[in-house]
Amino acid sequence: MDTPIEVLRRVFGYDSFRPGQQEIIDHVVDGGDALVLMPTGGGKSLCYQIPALVRPGVGVVISPLIALMQDQVDALRALGVRAGFLNSTQGFDERQLVEAEFLAGELDLLYLAPERLRVDATVRLLEKGDIALFAIDEAHCVSQWGHDFRPDYLMLSDLHERWPSVPRIALTATATPDTHKEIASRLRLEQAHHFVASFDRPNIQYRITSKADPKRQLLDFLRTEHDGDAGIVYCLSRSSVEKIAEFLADNGIPAVPYHAGLDAATRAAHQARFLREDGLVVVATIAFGMGIDKPDVRFVAHLDLPKSVEGYYQETGRGGRDGQAATAWMAYGLQDVVQQRKLISEGDEAHRRRQALHLDAMLALCETVGCRRVMLLDYFGQDHSEPCGNCDTCLSPPETWDGTVAAQKVLSAVYRLWSERHQRFGVGHLVDILLGKQTPKVQQHGHDTLTVFGVGTDLGQPEWHAVIRQLLAQGLLSVEPAHSTLVLTDLSSGVLRGQRQVPMRRDLTRPASRTKLARGSSRPSTDTTLTPEATDTFERLRTWRATTAKEQGVPAYVIFHDSTLREIATQSPTTLDALATINGIGQNKLTKYGPQVLTVLTNPT
Ligand code: ADP
Ligand code: ZN
Repeated sequence: MDTPIEVLRRVFGYDSFRPGQQEIIDHVVDGGDALVLMPTGGGKSLCYQIPALVRPGVGVVISPLIALMQDQVDALRALGVRAGFLNSTQGFDERQLVEAEFLAGELDLLYLAPERLRVDATVRLLEKGDIALFAIDEAHCVSQWGHDFRPDYLMLSDLHERWPSVPRIALTATATPDTHKEIASRLRLEQAHHFVASFDRPNIQYRITSKADPKRQLLDFLRTEHDGDAGIVYCLSRSSVEKIAEFLADNGIPAVPYHAGLDAATRAAHQARFLREDGLVVVATIAFGMGIDKPDVRFVAHLDLPKSVEGYYQETGRGGRDGQAATAWMAYGLQDVVQQRKLISEGDEAHRRRQALHLDAMLALCETVGCRRVMLLDYFGQDHSEPCGNCDTCLSPPETWDGTVAAQKVLSAVYRLWSERHQRFGVGHLVDILLGKQTPKVQQHGHDTLTVFGVGTDLGQPEWHAVIRQLLAQGLLSVEPAHSTLVLTDLSSGVLRGQRQVPMRRDLTRPASRTKLARGSSRPSTDTTLTPEATDTFERLRTWRATTAKEQGVPAYVIFHDSTLREIATQSPTTLDALATINGIGQNKLTKYGPQVLTVLTNPT
């Protein structure tokens, strides 16, 4: 029987394990239960796929992502792995065929939607077969915070009673201690070995910029840094998704929208195009992306503030799964904070408090003057004491200034307006007062007689917005949901009385440091810059891959990843043996595509 490393090389064509994989695989191969916490893109799939191939019997994978099962199975089949799935999208005949294969021992891996296990027939079927392991993917679905699949996932706690000798491996990219504990108890995995991998994704460059003209900023970012790349743009609302997708398309960037308001067929079609085409941008609400394992997503952009650091990290983690450089870019501004603070007004007290904590952590990340990665990893309870050198604050450290006096001006203006709080005085009006502008609203309410009128002419409007944003982020100011009015908090008086300093970060007014950032984003060592000849070969290989993928009806990356094509183009192997040494070419793909690849290499026309 093959060892795990032999399977890694022969089937998957990879040289070595990523950090953590080997220990997890060995543990499960030996029959142990495991709870695996690994970041998105860390390489969780191999942790159950390889044990399923090494152990006798079929590996049963429980995954809620029905829409992706076909692609997952196709990708495994392309590697020569005998995989199948059972879910509600299938017809009777297709299902029967898979069941027959399972019973005949002709499958290595069987993907199941969790609700299948509620059906007696499925349980009886499984009982008749030989099971190598149960893998429970997206295991955070058992947790109590708003997951659609929860009832089905809670049923999975029975697996252990029914199949006491079959190892179970539960996997998730959600790593907060609360979720971790909850998964362990709900799935009865307290006794399992817990593997917590490093959450660092060093190839992702984290950048958070202040929002001025977000559409333009996005366009600028895409044109200058990600021309022709595949990526995801996240927006909060359906309407902004539609607007931004249209805006990008109008500007010559191929983009499609994705949100829960679109009908299922359109959503499926847009997702399929994203997976299959090179260089498509999906503009989406957070309804998009769970379980998508497209390896060559080169950027993830946020035009609105995510609700939590967990969410942000999951979403940005969808970039750069292939280990090549990717950018996590976000534009964030005052309105984001106002809006999110307002949204927190719903639900019971405990729920609101929890949401507020999530938001505070997210805001702290946005406003930090320290390394973003250090802060992110710290959030997940992991130490990373060295600044990373691959985030915006490392690459162009922001300046700080003493914002105490500015803060006092804002807070006293808010205080003066307090007696009229039943009125809707938003941020705009407040800043007009500070700047001493004689607007109709100012005159109507006689606000030009306030002592704070015109005290803020030392700063401009964008600077005042930045000040207010940071006061909101630091909890020195709040938003009253009913009237969207700014209000003081318990902490405000300390500032007003001069007992508390308020350090602030200075926003970069323009993306001045692009050259610096571009240099910083120099691709990791695995990625070699191609010579002109190699670029030419690479493009020919991509054309061949696109044709082949189309013929076979699979995404291009199922044939070969970009990184594999790039390596072929650089090394120009002339024999199958030489081709076999390239990362990402296992035995099956060598036999299937090797001769064609060599032909592409030798026939430049
Ligand atoms: P996750 O499920 O943790 O988000 P995946 O299992 O989809 O991550 O793996 C992410 C990518 O990394 C995939 O494209 C996979 O083929 C690749 N990968 C995983 N393990 C290795 C390895 N040991 N060597 C090279 N590539 C790997
Ligand atoms: Zn950093």
